[in-house]
Amino acid sequence: MYDKCCKCAGNILPGQPVFQLAIGKYFPPAITPTMPVHLGNWHKDHVNESVFRPQGQPYHCAICNDEIAGTEQVLYGVIGKQPEWCWIRAESRGYVMQLVACKKCWGTEQIKQLLDEATVGETRRENLQYPRRGGGQHGR
Ligand SMILES: [Zn+2]
Ligand SMILES: [Zn+2]
Repeated sequence: MYDKCCKCAGNILPGQPVFQLAIGKYFPPAITPTMPVHLGNWHKDHVNESVFRPQGQPYHCAICNDEIAGTEQVLYGVIGKQPEWCWIRAESRGYVMQLVACKKCWGTEQIKQLLDEATVGETRRENLQYPRRGGGQHGR
């Protein structure tokens, strides 16, 4: 079983460039936060990369520009290679994140707009669950 692209619903094959959206805790100096909630995968070509502002550490929220502190929960997006099917996390992610948003900005109009633009307005909403309170359960 392969991951499906949230835009075209096609399979994302191992080794293909992928954009992953997730919620996790940021533990510096680790580049990528943990991934307790996996929100969705897209073929890299099926997201509009021009809306992202790739950044290295220290990270700043894409909405309010606050610096992201250690152990803070963030909504984040990374581009990497789709791993073999038994793994979730993209490989070869590099040293940047495409998108970081602090918890207080989740659910704002700005983040919805940004995600809509990023996914060219054709996001399959049923695949993209906006952050819920509590939880911490696995994304699938
Ligand atoms: Zn696709
Ligand atoms: Zn923020």
